Amino acid sequence: MPLKNHVVIVTGGSAGIGFAVAKRLASDGYHILINYNSNKDGALACQSEINELDGACSILQFNVKDREQCESALEGFLAENPDLSIYGLVNNAGITRDTLAGLMSDDDFRDVVETNMFGSFYLMRWCAKKMLLKKRGAIVNMSSLSGQVGNGGQLNYAASKAGIIAMTKSLANEVGRRGIRVNAVAPGIIETKMTAEIPFLDQMKKNIPLKRIGKPEEVASVVSFLISNEASYMTGQTLSVNGGLYFS
Ligand code: NAP
Repeated sequence: MPLKNHVVIVTGGSAGIGFAVAKRLASDGYHILINYNSNKDGALACQSEINELDGACSILQFNVKDREQCESALEGFLAENPDLSIYGLVNNAGITRDTLAGLMSDDDFRDVVETNMFGSFYLMRWCAKKMLLKKRGAIVNMSSLSGQVGNGGQLNYAASKAGIIAMTKSLANEVGRRGIRVNAVAPGIIETKMTAEIPFLDQMKKNIPLKRIGKPEEVASVVSFLISNEASYMTGQTLSVNGGLYFS
């Protein structure tokens, strides 16, 4: 069993996939640090569900786009909790700003890349330094099917999620010799706020071999595996969790 003083940070743990990941990793035995940006109620709800299961959990507000905010919040957390150490990171926070390329503003592109890619980079860099000191750790980055194959209407998002796969492979290459593993998960269509307004969802389900969209818990179980020692010989990989769907 992992030790209760091993912290796994879950960014965007206030809703959707991050909420399910936080709960699952808490049941695995880690101390979960739930990050949120604006949805404090969501983070508190997740914390309370974890506490009901006798899990250990803290919440921490920061905007992953803002490097100084991320680093000072995390350093502050460690200073207040000297008995805890960073064991894992799940870079889950993410946004979409979908529109056709010709209509996409600079801000649509910048916001998505800054949140999804720069945010993941800031967290990976900070955590990797802590993990290098301990010579252990596991990172899971949330990519997407869009990042693997591209998707019309999501040029910005697909670019950010493809970048996450490239960063995953690159960091895995750098830190493997120090006992740190870095992997990614690429969900297809999962039932969360992010996908609630996708048009023609029923039509899209027909194209999914498993004929349904996925549940956040079905992503969480794969994240749990990648963080755990069950995946001890895996690094630099991207696991698809998409019901067999590949856009064409
Ligand atoms: P969601 O329900 O919209 O939740 C997004 C989470 O990200 C929220 O907890 C939100 O926190 C957090 N977040 C957004 N911007 C943030 C920022 N600047 N700083 C800190 N936290 C921020 O989305 P989801 O569907 O669970 O998606 C989670 C991850 O899975 C994302 O990276 C997404 O790209 C990826 N993904 C999702 C699907 C899908 O079908 N749902 C498919 C492929 C990949 P606050 O509300 O507190 O701001």
